[in-house]
Amino acid sequence: MPIDIVEFRKQVRDFCDQEVYPIAENIDKEDTIPSGLWEKIGSVGLLGITIPENYGGRGLDYLHHVIAIEEFSRASGTVGFSYADHSNICLHNIFVHANEEQRKKYVPQLCSGEYLGALSMSEPCAGSDVVGSMSCMAEKHNGYWLANGTKKWTTNGNSADVIIVYMRTADKTKGSHSISAFLLDDSVTGWERSEKLDKLGMRGADNCELYFNDCKIPQEHLLGVENEGVRILMSGLDSERLLLSAGPIGLMQAALDLVLPYVREREQFGKPIGQFELMQAKIAEMYTSLQTARAFTYRTAEAFDNDKPSRADAAACALYASRAAVQVSLEAIQALGGIGYMNDSLASRLLRDSKIYEIGGGTNEIRKMLIGRELFQRDPEYF
Ligand SMILES: Cc1cc2nc3c(=O)[nH]c(=O)nc-3n(C[C@H](O)[C@H](O)[C@H](O)COP(=O)(O)OP(=O)(O)OC[C@H]3O[C@@H](n4cnc5c(N)ncnc54)[C@H](O)[C@@H]3O)c2cc1C
Repeated sequence: MPIDIVEFRKQVRDFCDQEVYPIAENIDKEDTIPSGLWEKIGSVGLLGITIPENYGGRGLDYLHHVIAIEEFSRASGTVGFSYADHSNICLHNIFVHANEEQRKKYVPQLCSGEYLGALSMSEPCAGSDVVGSMSCMAEKHNGYWLANGTKKWTTNGNSADVIIVYMRTADKTKGSHSISAFLLDDSVTGWERSEKLDKLGMRGADNCELYFNDCKIPQEHLLGVENEGVRILMSGLDSERLLLSAGPIGLMQAALDLVLPYVREREQFGKPIGQFELMQAKIAEMYTSLQTARAFTYRTAEAFDNDKPSRADAAACALYASRAAVQVSLEAIQALGGIGYMNDSLASRLLRDSKIYEIGGGTNEIRKMLIGRELFQRDPEYF
């Protein structure tokens, strides 16, 4: 059912105010998301935003999805990050590329929160150059693929029920036609997960390595076309960059939510610190960064929704928003003075959480490379 953006944001915010914000500090401290949260989010229809209603989703567009990630991230950076991974990077990609049987097997459960989803392409030696350096191999046999190698970083990996995993399935000389995507679940034998990795921020969102040791992946777990996994990977990365921009936007909003009341209440030299022009300049800069990131991301999401996706703009949104969020979190710490620097302050958590957006889903250096390349190749008429 179509729903107005303002009404939709209110729905997500009301849910987050009740169910996410109150547990955000604990998620960070305990380094765990309580079991049951995903089913709660699923029960109010917020997991399958872009998935048609007949599969258990909401049938909405990228702009709605951006707003949902923004609001989750405003309440808890960790939940927003993990939610984006589940709802876009895994669920949306499965829906777009799976056959009917696979959709029926995974999509309704991912929409309800019964299943948690993840995606695994990175490896210890394959990060920015993930396609060229991928060393996880799957060899074709009669009715199954024999997979070996190690994957790294997989967000939601420790608890995921289904993971999209990329493997090299043809000779490397075939370049972008040498990788395939598979759907991994506990029915597949011969793979295991590492302990949870210990991160600076986004604590609670679990990340792990995956080990494949003569792992037998049945043929029916192939996602999309054999050796055409790079197409899935690249198209997924464009929407991933767009949607990941919403995380930093939510974190910047959380920084302003924190700083504005503080500068009204905190007094030095006999008046609220918010009356000093230098402090007003600080909040003006924070607000301008937030609104610029927001406007650019919403406009790019609308273009994606109108079938005019732009790889350069999605990367530019992620570049701008991630950089801005790190700066805005630093300014939040500065505005709070000494208490902002404490480990248990929200301002310091925002800084720890925002930094990942300059690295995950492709680093800012790679985003710049992509934007520059796209603009260089673009038809001058475009402008
Ligand atoms: C918390 C977290 C969650 C993650 N979640 C997932 C996930 O769910 N699934 C998944 O598959 N992956 C995931 N990743 C992996 C992430 O996508 C990679 O970390 C990222 O792509 C960078 O790869 P790398 O860490 O190997 O760094 P490298 O590629 O080794 O880069 C190191 C540095 O060199 C720079 N560099 C590399 N190449 C160039 C170049 N050509 N020009 C200029 N600079 C360059 C990089 O920008 C970076 O600054 C996650 C990572 C983290 C930390």
